Amino acid sequence: MSQGISLYQTAVEQFERAANVMNLPPYIREILQHPKNEIVVNFPVLLDNGNYKVFSGYRVQHSNVLGPYKGGIRFHPSVNVDEVRALAAWMTFKCALADLPFGGAKGGVAVDPRMFSRAELMRITRRFTSALGANIGPDHDIPAPDVGTNAQTMVWMMDTYMNSQSNATRQSSWGVVTGKSLVCGGSEGREKATGQGVQIALEQYMKEAKMDPAQTTFSIQGFGNVGSWGAVLIGEMGCRLVAVQDHTGALKSEKGIDPKALMEYVKNTGGVKGYPEAGACTNEEYWKTKVDVLVPAAFENQITAENAPWIDCRIIVEGANGPVTTEAERALLARGVTFIPDILANSGGVIVSYYEWLQNKRSEHWDLDEVDARLKKQLVRAVTNVRKEAKRLKVDNRTAAYAVGLRRIEAAYTERGIFP
Ligand code: NAD
Repeated sequence: MSQGISLYQTAVEQFERAANVMNLPPYIREILQHPKNEIVVNFPVLLDNGNYKVFSGYRVQHSNVLGPYKGGIRFHPSVNVDEVRALAAWMTFKCALADLPFGGAKGGVAVDPRMFSRAELMRITRRFTSALGANIGPDHDIPAPDVGTNAQTMVWMMDTYMNSQSNATRQSSWGVVTGKSLVCGGSEGREKATGQGVQIALEQYMKEAKMDPAQTTFSIQGFGNVGSWGAVLIGEMGCRLVAVQDHTGALKSEKGIDPKALMEYVKNTGGVKGYPEAGACTNEEYWKTKVDVLVPAAFENQITAENAPWIDCRIIVEGANGPVTTEAERALLARGVTFIPDILANSGGVIVSYYEWLQNKRSEHWDLDEVDARLKKQLVRAVTNVRKEAKRLKVDNRTAAYAVGLRRIEAAYTERGIFP
């Protein structure tokens, strides 16, 4: 639960909305309402002060009907099984929509990474990976970074997993995780990929709506991996960033905030607070800032019935997973706000993760131009499919995005049948 709202309930409601309009067979609905496997591990870790602490870790494997389970690992104090379940289900629909040969999973450890040293984080990561054991693997379940984890976390996971393998299979295990550093088998372009996907999805929509980037303002919540890259790339389109908020505070500037300079600042200080080139504002002022495009890129359940009435924008592009509660979404849709939903807008990360996995399988290294071109083509196709489906079914973009993904899943179940 986050702020008393079950995230999994939100995910189920979204999925059912689409299942109803496309008449999804009841047995497929029932299967998709239940994650296939839920793994909980409690493991002790040696701290720098000589004491031991027990951490709880989760991996929920929602569906593998389209391929190996795929999804990020989150390190955050509020990680719990309800949240991980929802995030796992969203990965199933996201991968299906993007036409990837993956299913959906998600994992996490209930830990605040800011409170632990690098050495402690390494031991937490390695012990968690070891506890997961054979529940992950390059052809079975492939983790990636999410909130509170990064390329370094993935490299520790990969190394731990590889060390558990025999000599014969060790070198074919690079693809057990994606989002790794370049030298350890990562892909060019993976770090910026989710923010880049947010930008590509927005650009496609703006073209259709005939919006001029030079006349377009935007605000962004969260200035981590997704938020900072999203801001930089949307800024490069010519749009003006006028407000930012993260866990440290909020900023506002009508003349515009330079996303690259802010990215540098946040790298050095850990948050947007105190950035000298823009004025500080309250969280309420942040949400009330009038913009054309609002990009939530922090966390789930951030736009609620409480702050939705404050929001004054045309488009919400969901960089984060599940940033809007069902109630807030209903109110905003009624006011004519367009959503570019999470399972479409933030799918750039898993798309480039797929490229990384392919490169690992083939022992190849693709250059950045190739990754960028493939990502653009694949995301534009997904956006086009969603817009076509939205017009055909006369539904909002989220329902259409689910319908496109669900059709692929339905076809797989229809052809494969249910064992035995
Ligand atoms: P991150 O850890 O790099 O950044 C998280 C950001 O959220 C930080 O700027 C932090 O300050 C901010 N934040 C945290 N709590 C906040 C609060 N209460 N109010 C305002 N800001 C707050 O994480 P990330 O990888 O950028 O992920 C952000 C979102 O994007 C998550 O929902 C994640 O699931 C989703 N996502 C990430 C990826 C990826 O490739 N990293 C892919 C798809 C979706």
